[in-house]
Amino acid sequence: MDAEIIASGTELLMGETQDTNSSFLSSHLPSVGLQVRKITIIGDDFQEYSEALHKAWEKSSFVFTTGGLGPTKDDLTREAIADLVNEKPSVNEEQLKILKRFFSARNSDMPDTNIKQSWLIPSSTAIRNPNGTAPGWWVEKNNKFVIAMPGPPRELYPMWENEIKPKLLSLLDNEVVMTRSYKTIGLSEARIDEMASPILGSENPYVGIYAKEDGIHIRAIAKAKDQNKALDILKNIDNKVEHIFGSYVWGTDDELPEESLLKLLLSKKKTLGLMESCTAGTIANKITNIDGSSNSLHGGLVSYSDATKIQFGINEDSITKFTSISEQVCREMAIKAKDIFNADYGIATTGIAGNQQIEDIIPGTVFIGIADNSKVKVSKHLFPSNNRNAVKNRASTMAILSLIDFISENI
Ligand code: ATP
Repeated sequence: MDAEIIASGTELLMGETQDTNSSFLSSHLPSVGLQVRKITIIGDDFQEYSEALHKAWEKSSFVFTTGGLGPTKDDLTREAIADLVNEKPSVNEEQLKILKRFFSARNSDMPDTNIKQSWLIPSSTAIRNPNGTAPGWWVEKNNKFVIAMPGPPRELYPMWENEIKPKLLSLLDNEVVMTRSYKTIGLSEARIDEMASPILGSENPYVGIYAKEDGIHIRAIAKAKDQNKALDILKNIDNKVEHIFGSYVWGTDDELPEESLLKLLLSKKKTLGLMESCTAGTIANKITNIDGSSNSLHGGLVSYSDATKIQFGINEDSITKFTSISEQVCREMAIKAKDIFNADYGIATTGIAGNQQIEDIIPGTVFIGIADNSKVKVSKHLFPSNNRNAVKNRASTMAILSLIDFISENI
């Protein structure tokens, strides 16, 4: 069955906010049996919104909208939907109570402008939104549906998961499509292709191989009558992937490298120290974004200048002889990262994040060092160097994946 998405908000058209809600929805709708045929982005303009909504309603059984449910004049979604089905919105007492409770729980008075967030029309029911003031709207008329969700992703994601998805699953009896990505480290794309041959070539599940920023992903797409059957197909592939690739797979789906690393460190009761030069704290930042990181991360040092490297124990002669962007210095840094912080593993980075060549070292060159008590491994990488932040980001991801690989190799 066809679905369309309309994302509204002038900030989306200005490029200030990326339309991640539509990507989220289009990746989740197939799992309830809906195929997205079109995504439209509209500014805060009633006429434009109304036209887009009429067209989508004409062509598709389901229209999902995101944004425009706020209390202000430029939040036009409710008005446009009411106009579409030719109904008048009015205050719903139950919703008004919920809204007032939301404000009083925060010790504030509800501004009058918020009253319109308690509106409903005869064809709509409210969709619970415990994370914000705007309930969603579930509109059903003539066997067609409009499902209106708020713009903030922290409101939309749980509303999808807890309210909308279960309702759609009980309503629809379509073939569902579910996917799983297995994220690998340590193997080339060609080698993965070779090893995956027993699971490639079938139509259901369809298995493909894709190179991504955080390594090479093996992606399985399963189609079935319902979610449980699709999950069974994926479970079967889980087992085969585990059998073929074992610890070369560091995570699945939305899992981040830092989450996988922390899980691994925690399960082995191991700790980590960092000495970052070109990534300048980016590895520490990623790791400390994960709950419970203090159990494993002992500390990190941004040893940006040569003087700081020397101050913290890197051999001055090594820097003079090889420069600080070298395998030799990176090796010493990885050992110091481990020793300074009294940890089981050390990670070190040194390289050029900017676009200025230093001696004969090409911009984007990064050395990553990993050390434990018996071994040091240094790898050299070349990242596209037109953006400092992108180099820091990719180098820090690679450093985290390198430690996962190092630990897996030594199990
Ligand atoms: P609110 O009640 O917070 O005003 P709303 O439903 O009116 O919610 P908008 O005002 O359109 O939503 O957007 C609120 C915020 O949500 C935006 O500033 C933006 O940060 C985020 N947002 C809106 N639409 C999207 C989108 N399509 N993808 C990602 N984020 C979005």
